[in-house]
Amino acid sequence: MKTQQIPMLDFYSSLFMQEGPIGRKGRVFMRICGSEHPTRKRLAQEMMIRPATISDLVLELVQDGLVRESRPEQITQKGRPELVLSPNPTGLTAIIINTVSRTLHCTVVDLAGNVLMRERRELDADQIEPDEFLELLCLLCISMRQNLPHGSRLAGVVLSLAGIVDEEARIWRYAAHWPNLGNLSFDTLEQTLGCRVLLAKNLKCELRARMDRAEASAYQRILLLHWGYGVGAAFARRGANGLDYVGHGEVGHISVDLSSTAVCKCGLTGCIEAEIGLWAILARLEDQTIPAEEWSFEEVLRATPHLTDWDRPIDLLAMTLRNLTLTLGPDQCVITGPFTQNAELLNRLRQRFTEIAPASAVSFGGRNVEIVAGAPGIQDELIGAAALVFREELAEIGIGSALAEE
Ligand SMILES: [Zn+2]
Repeated sequence: MKTQQIPMLDFYSSLFMQEGPIGRKGRVFMRICGSEHPTRKRLAQEMMIRPATISDLVLELVQDGLVRESRPEQITQKGRPELVLSPNPTGLTAIIINTVSRTLHCTVVDLAGNVLMRERRELDADQIEPDEFLELLCLLCISMRQNLPHGSRLAGVVLSLAGIVDEEARIWRYAAHWPNLGNLSFDTLEQTLGCRVLLAKNLKCELRARMDRAEASAYQRILLLHWGYGVGAAFARRGANGLDYVGHGEVGHISVDLSSTAVCKCGLTGCIEAEIGLWAILARLEDQTIPAEEWSFEEVLRATPHLTDWDRPIDLLAMTLRNLTLTLGPDQCVITGPFTQNAELLNRLRQRFTEIAPASAVSFGGRNVEIVAGAPGIQDELIGAAALVFREELAEIGIGSALAEE
């Protein structure tokens, strides 16, 4: 059996940095996740821990449902081959609730980021009231939990949301596309479900997972900009203590054209979102049957790439990127959403950016900023969101060992 890769290991490992018995179980689990075919003997040698202690810790991890053992397929030595250890991804699961445009998604993922179950609800975002919304979330979570794989432990529920999200207070302050849900608190959800419930800004979740992937390891500072139904951004920088994050929920409401008369849903005039957000572009088109849902729109764009004149949206976005690049100094800009999945639009954006923000300019210090399209879909967002509850659950399991005081 092939060992599954566990994403976000660096994010979890930082829990167990302290030397000594406390966190030792967590370190053993991290080592099992990050090694090729580990055995008890190898762990004891490499981690310089007594074999009996390793055996006890591995047994606990097996009982926790996080580790499984199997006989190796190929027997190379004489005698009884040693049991090989591997992580058991379905031992830990999380329920992620997120929105794509005005659609609600509910997904169960395991520790390896595998999607085990998925539901999608089309809601009347303009009309839905807080009580109705919370009740629906609750019913979705309960039905998901009843169908979890046998022996799987639910680490919790993460709501990965757009707009202004107060992660600490667990309040969804504002989302332009859900007008009646302002200042919505999710405290009752935790009480009703009886499990951990966390709130997270969606773009930060996506960026957290993206920066964990090997292909992003060369980049120190990444700006993630979502150009979709609305416009938003998140920024992360690698530091001594892992990743530092900054959310920029209001980037969609900066203005790069003083003469703009576009009226935004937020009450301001000239917001970049009111100019280039999908909702604003669609409102200006003659054909009012084009779907506002980002994934459906991506298909429309593939079939009819010239449905509007792109010069102005590209100009405005390139100028926005120039301003953000000078402010934050990213070495990579990742643009997600339906527009940049179109190669022609992405290339035009790159070209325009190079024209108005040449690397040769003194203010850029000769630095080349790479502009790329983000991965389509929501896999990164799911992994980055689930990691939040996995981390809390692993902290409890990995530090709360019976052997910690040994
Ligand atoms: Zn605005």
